[in-house]
Amino acid sequence: MNDDARGKPVSRNTAGVTRLAPSPTGALHLGNARTFLVTWAIARRAGWRIVLRVEDLDGPRVKPGAIESCIALLEWLGMDWDEGPIVQSHDPEPHVEAMRSLARGGHVYPCDLSRAEIEAAASAPHHEPMSIAGGTPSAPASGREARFPPELRPPPSAREFDERESNWRFAVPTGAAGVVRFDDAFAGPQALSPADTIGDFVVWTRRAQPAYQLAVVADDHRQGVTDVVRGDDLLDSAARQLLLYRALALAPEPRHWHLPLVVGPDGRRLAKRHGDTRLDTYRTRGVRPERIIGLLARWCGIDADEMNAREFSDRLDLATIPRSPVVMRPEDERWLLEG
Ligand code: GLU
Repeated sequence: MNDDARGKPVSRNTAGVTRLAPSPTGALHLGNARTFLVTWAIARRAGWRIVLRVEDLDGPRVKPGAIESCIALLEWLGMDWDEGPIVQSHDPEPHVEAMRSLARGGHVYPCDLSRAEIEAAASAPHHEPMSIAGGTPSAPASGREARFPPELRPPPSAREFDERESNWRFAVPTGAAGVVRFDDAFAGPQALSPADTIGDFVVWTRRAQPAYQLAVVADDHRQGVTDVVRGDDLLDSAARQLLLYRALALAPEPRHWHLPLVVGPDGRRLAKRHGDTRLDTYRTRGVRPERIIGLLARWCGIDADEMNAREFSDRLDLATIPRSPVVMRPEDERWLLEG
């Protein structure tokens, strides 16, 4: 097979590297299975290496047994990988080294302001004109993190990083320097400004652990990841991660492919509220992997009943993947269980 998923000829080589990066904080469900399968298929068609990286740094939310269960289900669906599983928490040195470098460069600072203090500062009167002028509102929508305004950061200075029990934040560039432009291979050209949406974000947590944004950048770089394929809920994160690449002077930056998510009939991201769409549950109920892949394939615009992972990768055409969220409907589940 000489065509990559976009139909352009590519030579089969191992120059590209991607990763499957499950978080063991929840069970694998149909939505994230679709993203993993598309990632795997793009990589196998293009001849990239695949690294399986378990992102277990979100300590309190990691569920016992979730790593093993997720790996077993990926294999059950027919996916494989060339390296790993690499468990993120097992090798903290690259994360600490990245922090040292950011601190020496004056890009990060320790910060112990509480969420309430940040929200109070973000909604202080001098921020209001920005919202009125049509910028991103400073006050968070419920459950969203408040934008951390640059006024709250200390003056820039080179620091020694220490793993004290404190958050460290990244001083996000503001103005034109803070606009991150990249061409997403799936979502198209982007110009995102983390300074206006999230502000100075946490890169190291007071639990003495790297935050997701930092760990991803340090690990993608050391694992040689050239292509990041994932759900478009992480599109905003890509801009933060590219700012970290630049502050750390890491090159080359990866190419991004952000795919629309699967949502429930209410338009919200597939989750427990939509019923039990865990792969494990379907497997226990006797649903075969070919049937699951058949449904995931239809959600990628492939007209099919059942197929295995290899057939899926042969038939995947990025041009037919819907550019907007895919809705899982009750009849999808009925079809799965019928087979
Ligand atoms: N571990 C993340 C997740 O499961 C994915 C992170 C990434 O792809 O950068 O949502």
